[in-house]
Amino acid sequence: MEPSFYRRLADDALAGVDLADDRCLAILTDPAVDLLPLLNAAYEVRHAHWGKTVQVHVLNNAQNGKCPEDCSYCSQARTSEAPIEEYSMKDDDEILDEAQRAYEAGAFRYCLVMSGRGPSKKGTEQLAHLVRRIKETYPLEVCVSAGLLDDDKAAVLAAAGLDRLNHNLNTSEEHYAEICTTHTYQDRIDTLRAAKRNGIETCSGLIAGMGEPPTDLIEIAKTLRTLESESIPVNFLLPFEGNVLQEATGLTPQYCLRVLAMFRFTNPAAEVRCTAGREFHLRSLEVLSLYPANSLFLDGYLNAKGEAVARTYQMIVDAGFEIVSDRQVADLLTEALAEGGRLDETPVELLDRPGVKTASDLHPTR
Ligand code: SF4
Repeated sequence: MEPSFYRRLADDALAGVDLADDRCLAILTDPAVDLLPLLNAAYEVRHAHWGKTVQVHVLNNAQNGKCPEDCSYCSQARTSEAPIEEYSMKDDDEILDEAQRAYEAGAFRYCLVMSGRGPSKKGTEQLAHLVRRIKETYPLEVCVSAGLLDDDKAAVLAAAGLDRLNHNLNTSEEHYAEICTTHTYQDRIDTLRAAKRNGIETCSGLIAGMGEPPTDLIEIAKTLRTLESESIPVNFLLPFEGNVLQEATGLTPQYCLRVLAMFRFTNPAAEVRCTAGREFHLRSLEVLSLYPANSLFLDGYLNAKGEAVARTYQMIVDAGFEIVSDRQVADLLTEALAEGGRLDETPVELLDRPGVKTASDLHPTR
């Protein structure tokens, strides 16, 4: 492609122009679109909104497994035979203790993830009570991933001070019935709209590699633009023994990068997060994901080897980006080293480099 193709992509995204579907499709599939100039154009847009920062997110599972739904990609689904640790909702005091530890470690957001179709009316009130207690006790943002919500439930959570709701679209409307039969795409859209109507920010993304054509990814990107999702996690299907959907299709490192770039051009100001499958599918090109995406997810951090955590932080700093973490970076790195991770520098040396930011830098009043 001529240099003007890439120039126009960046200029249009920066001007807020809605990218036509044929240009999105060219980004994803046209071999004449070269990867490096494409990523350079995506980086220009990312930089305009996020500078060189990379937000590193760590999830906190408040409830695991025991889900009655049948999402075919999920190890917690009733249809999955994956050997996961199952536990019911932790009690309030345990979660408050975790929130305290997160706060003391410098977190700016506390993320609670619950498996299940969605909370009952009573469950929503209990969740709201918990959110209110966290918010009253610690100056933390709270994000919840709790399944399907209607307006009434969203209003209860909004009144308690919930800042953000995670609820992924996962795939396109047309493809949805092939990955799940116990709820619909429209259920998910309705949940996101209910959150927005009640003033809750949304975090909603997708899983690529579930057999969908590239045009479906374009449809998701456009829908998330319409929904004005503040945060977009881009997952790449991880093969997980025991899950109904075990084989990822059509994913190459270059295609994954094109997907990230397409989401950046279509949702220029969003927090585009490279999430599950980052190491597995991007392989040797993983560092290039930082050019379209401004955010990473430490996949299954609680079970991740220290090596993987240390390697991720080293990769970010080696590429000249600035780390922003939900937790104090020094704590994470120290833990990672204690678990057998290797760094070329000590955590202190790494963090002494110019430009490395911690959560405390973002909240200088603390
Ligand atoms: S509703 Fe959530 S936890 Fe349950 S199977 Fe689907 S993705 Fe997994």
